[in-house]
Parts: sequence; structure tokens; C-alpha cells
Amino acid sequence: MKTKTRIQFSKKWNILDKYLPSDIAGALKNLINPTLKFPSVTLNSQDELAISLRKINIIVDGRSILRLIREIVRIEETDIKEDGAYDFMPGSSQDEEVKLEGDPADYYELHVECEHCGRYKWIQKSDLQLKMSMNLDIDESESGEILISDRLKKVFDNEKLNGFTYRKVIAEKSIWQLMPHGQAVVKKPNEYLKGKNNCTFCGKPRILVYEDTNGIELFKPPYDIPRIERTPVLLLQNMPGDFSVTDLEFGTLGRLPEGSSQVQAKEFTHKTSNAKWVVSGKLCKILYEKKVKGFELSPAQIC
Ligand SMILES: [Zn+2]
Repeated sequence: MKTKTRIQFSKKWNILDKYLPSDIAGALKNLINPTLKFPSVTLNSQDELAISLRKINIIVDGRSILRLIREIVRIEETDIKEDGAYDFMPGSSQDEEVKLEGDPADYYELHVECEHCGRYKWIQKSDLQLKMSMNLDIDESESGEILISDRLKKVFDNEKLNGFTYRKVIAEKSIWQLMPHGQAVVKKPNEYLKGKNNCTFCGKPRILVYEDTNGIELFKPPYDIPRIERTPVLLLQNMPGDFSVTDLEFGTLGRLPEGSSQVQAKEFTHKTSNAKWVVSGKLCKILYEKKVKGFELSPAQIC
């Protein structure tokens, strides 16, 4: 397991430099972009600098100079168990998002689920068409669909992985959209699953998040305590195949705020919520074996 700590500050470097203990400021100087409003640094959680930063509590003008502490847990190759399940995050931070020709909404039909909160179900009606080529063997389109290279499709076919099929993608090179058959059901209730701002008509939350935090919101007081986020374990009731998708989507699901005017389906160009991808240990092992780049894994558990 790899643990990283990302610390975001609430002040620019010229202010941090004044208030931080000189040894910490010295160690940070070359790691920080001095022009950012909220500079940040990512460190190994066990690094001395990470340990000392977590402990400082300096308040300047009523705000903690630490804005956000994110404790990130990532699964490594040696952690993978063949019969395990993992939360799969496609793409890489260095790589550009895979753009579609036109708007993402052009490829979907939007079905109204609740008129009152403007909850829509996005149902794909046509093959995706890419505006650019894809550099990785596996990546995510801007509409949140999994795309794989022809090379990886052949690997998956040879290894007889199951639980999904492919849909053709219109692109320069052969690329496939991976289409899971079944859904991995998120355990309900569970401590990390939180609905906010319920619709008074359908009762469903307008915002659904999956998170493990200390309860401090970035845009609400108190500001003298940093928000702490930890990678939550994705708790599931089942695992229907080697590649599947959660039954729930996370993000903004309904129109905000309550009472705002009705938004027509044609006004939606981009999805504001996405499901999580879930993969088997068997599939993860194959990805490492074949040196597939551009994904991260975080913990999941079937319970
Ligand atoms: Zn509703």
C-alpha cells in the first residue's frame, strides 16, 4: 500500500514564508509554486516534512494556513489478491482528458427521472467519436466512459476475462469502449456514503458523495481547522464480473438550488455525476503483467 499526503495551503507563498517555522519553510521552498492562490505539495505520508506539516496549526486572519490535508491510499502491485475487488481510476494526471467530437450530450439520450430536481438518466445512443488520439492502453473519455486500445482488448480476450463486452469507438486507431454487463451494488447504508440536499418531491439527494472526512467543508466556517480527507474503502455488496460499474453515481445528480427554474435536457452538455469503476484482482494482475500504464487503484471490499 502506498500512502501519500497532499497538503493545500490557504495562503500564497509570500505569506506562508513569513509564518511557517523556518526549517519547514526552507524544506518547502522548492516544492511549492509561489504564484498559486492555494499552493499545494504532495509528499510520502511518512516523510518528516509531511509529519511536521500535519501538526502545525497556525491561524492567520482567522484561517488556518492549512486548507486541506488529503491522505491518499493507493493499492500497489504486491497488495493485489486474485479474488479481491478494487476501485479503478483510469487515466493519469499527466495525460490530457480524452475529448469527444462535439459535446458529450450528443451521444446520449436524456431520460427524466424527476422533473422537480431535474434528475436525468444518460443513456448512450451512438458510438463515441474521439477528437484526438489516445496515448494510453486504458483511459476515460470526457463523458466518463472507459476506453481501451486494441492491444488491451486482445489481452482481455486471451485471458478470458468476463462481465463485459465492447462497443466500437470512431477514432483514427482501433479503440474500444468497455461496456460492463452488471453493476456492483454499493453497500447501503455505509459510513462513507452521504446524500445532501434532498429533493422535496422524489426524496433523493441532489448531491451524492463517497468520502471519509473530518466534516469540515472547504467553503463553510469554521476556517481555523483544515479539512481532512482520507481515501474511503469502497464497500460493495457484490462483484458481478472482472470489470463492472457501481449502481450509484456520485457528484451533482439534481438541479441546484431547490426551486431554481426548470432546466431543459438540451441545456446539459456535460455529465455532472459519474459511477465508480470496479475491477477484479485477476484483471489488475494482468494489467501489471502487461505493463499497462495510466491507472490507479484504491481499496474496495465486498461485504
Ligand atoms: Zn427529485
